[in-house]
Amino acid sequence: MTRHSPLGPGREFDLIRRFFPLPAHRDVIVGAGDDAAVLRSGWVVSTDASVENVHFRRDWLSAEEIGYRSGAIALSDVAAMAAAPVALLISLVLPAADYGTFAEQIMSGLKRVANGFGAALAGGDTTRTEGPLVLAVVALGRTEHAVLRSGARPGDDVWVTGLLGGAALAVQEWRAGNQPDPSTRARYAEPLPRVREALWLAQRLELHALIDLSDGLVSDAAHIASASNVAICIDASAIPLHSTSQPGVAQPPPGFQLAGAVRSALTGGDDYELCFTAARGTVQPIRSEFEQLFNAPLSRIGSVVAGRGIEIMDENGNRVEDVLSGYDHFGTVS
Ligand code: ADP
Ligand code: MG
Repeated sequence: MTRHSPLGPGREFDLIRRFFPLPAHRDVIVGAGDDAAVLRSGWVVSTDASVENVHFRRDWLSAEEIGYRSGAIALSDVAAMAAAPVALLISLVLPAADYGTFAEQIMSGLKRVANGFGAALAGGDTTRTEGPLVLAVVALGRTEHAVLRSGARPGDDVWVTGLLGGAALAVQEWRAGNQPDPSTRARYAEPLPRVREALWLAQRLELHALIDLSDGLVSDAAHIASASNVAICIDASAIPLHSTSQPGVAQPPPGFQLAGAVRSALTGGDDYELCFTAARGTVQPIRSEFEQLFNAPLSRIGSVVAGRGIEIMDENGNRVEDVLSGYDHFGTVS
């Protein structure tokens, strides 16, 4: 029978919880609560909406990038199940003014990311709206062995791929009226779905739990903790940080900069890196091969312990007390 995984805290997830119980089917093994649903036949399926002025702004991205980004985000959820992409479908909800070249450019970006990760673009829906531009992308993938959010065990280590905080930094720069430097901008405009990395890791390791970082490390690790009924302890000083050095931009004192960057990495969404847990000692032997092959760091950022929720330790081993959470779509609604 269909299983739903408990989600972590946050108003967005409180609302989703109110939709439960959801209809089930014997061929749907994992339903809501993970990065994608898992069907008995080995298919995984997920849907993600990108909404203008909520997930992106037109003055930040080109039409081509808007299309690319929406597909990359959808593919990231396939990666987060350790599945191989098969197909994307798009619902393109267009303001009338976007009819024509702008829509074609969106589709060019979507085709580019589908091609890049071996997925077909298997159809969709095109409709007009009086509201903002919306792209809703369904992603389908296949795997013999889906890695869920619910398999973390006390004694596991917690790992992340790549560098965190870059996408949040790009948004911060745009909001402050600046242009992010190209590498920071790319982290937001063209996130890299870690499809190949997830498949590679799943082949070599027994991954216990896996999620992609869409809402921020704290929020997403909390989903693993809730689904697995464990606590996750994050060592803030071990988080691999995206760094920027824009010539001519005055840098704040090092202490402040570090604090801000760590905070961005902990709470900033949109990095689409992978976070996974595996038994202590099992990842280290393949770490340098991963780093060479994918040109990205693989970092141990914490551990799984008995308990509930997330605990964050600072560089001195003291518990960070203030409430840190990831992006919550309804976090500011009262
Ligand atoms: P992700 O960031 O991996 O795309 P989300 O945070 O968007 O996942 O969603 C969390 C979980 O809640 C997913 O398993 C998703 O399928 C489920 N979910 C979200 N919205 C709804 C809804 N309206 N009805 C049923 N399930 C939902
Ligand atoms: Mg996800």
